[in-house]
Amino acid sequence: MTKPWFKNLRQIEPYVPGEQSKNENIIKLNANENPYPPSPQVMQALREIRPENLSLYPNSNAQKLVDAIAQYHGVKSSQVFVGNGSDDVIALSFMAFFNSDKPILFPDITYSFYPVWCRLFNIPYETPKVDDNFKIIPSDYYKPNGGVIFPNPNAPTGIGEGKEFIKDILNHNPDSIVIVDEAYVDFGCYSSIELLKEYDNLLVVQTFSKSRSMAGMRIGAAIGNEELIGVLNAVKNSYNSYTLDSVAIECGSAAVNDDEYFKSTLLKISSTRDRVSDIFKKMGFTVYPSQSNFIFVTKNDISAKALFEYLKSKNIFIRYFNLPRIDNHLRITIGTDEQMDTLIKETENYLNGLK
Ligand SMILES: *Cc1c(COP(=O)(O)O)cnc(C)c1O
Repeated sequence: MTKPWFKNLRQIEPYVPGEQSKNENIIKLNANENPYPPSPQVMQALREIRPENLSLYPNSNAQKLVDAIAQYHGVKSSQVFVGNGSDDVIALSFMAFFNSDKPILFPDITYSFYPVWCRLFNIPYETPKVDDNFKIIPSDYYKPNGGVIFPNPNAPTGIGEGKEFIKDILNHNPDSIVIVDEAYVDFGCYSSIELLKEYDNLLVVQTFSKSRSMAGMRIGAAIGNEELIGVLNAVKNSYNSYTLDSVAIECGSAAVNDDEYFKSTLLKISSTRDRVSDIFKKMGFTVYPSQSNFIFVTKNDISAKALFEYLKSKNIFIRYFNLPRIDNHLRITIGTDEQMDTLIKETENYLNGLK
């Protein structure tokens, strides 16, 4: 018999993150993590952490990290908000900014966490279809709405858009908050940060998880006008005052301050990406132009799911989405050159086995 309190339990279908394996020997190309370690400055900051200080609460607005990010982008500290990964920052932004009774808009093919937050916070939403080449159609975002969010470059396609595209969407949405999720922007895409001077309804969200090799530390940031950042802080302080711990504050600041290391890993990843894209094209795959640290591929004469399973049996994990329109596509994170060479070899073996 069902208990009387059962009806009060929240029924919700959660986001499913890329699989994490206990096996240390796998080649892990399924969660867009960075194959290179964080900056040596982060290692140094960790060594300097005094464990006895962990008895104290951290600074509730993570001021040191906020100041470092503000300086990096040339904005005021009052324009920067930080959170426990950009997932936390985006979830709080949904709570803070998407309170209209009109639906918010995001593409049908995009980060699959957005609809999960909409359901969690009861936000109505619509998902205009990207075109047959998986490009976002700006005019779909001209209609009245309760807010707009999209990643640039988009996920899981890796396709990036430039300044005119972003301005077009902003120009048609003066009455809404427009969030650009720049999780992968550092890998070679246009960043909207400069547009903050022109548009007070723009919020740019970034993360340390991909380009700064710090997924395990959980640091994300939003950059926007002071008023939006103030509202984000008010919502955060109504929910959990200490979203960032003192270790993350120290290590995050150290990472931002080492631009040289940052640029050098970005360069390594983008050159590996371009090399691997060419090889996959030669193997007969369609490879979408990527401005991120992953590629999105398909080959119409093979089953993406079968290749995914085959690679998994060889201890190579990539990402397969059992979702409409993309269920014969694969998302492959760019690892080291050595890891990618193993992936290429096994993919060739698989294709040869089909002949
Ligand atoms: C990875 C990712 C995020 C979230 O990253 P965090 O680890 O929570 O900072 C947000 N948006 C997109 C599009 C992503 O791919």
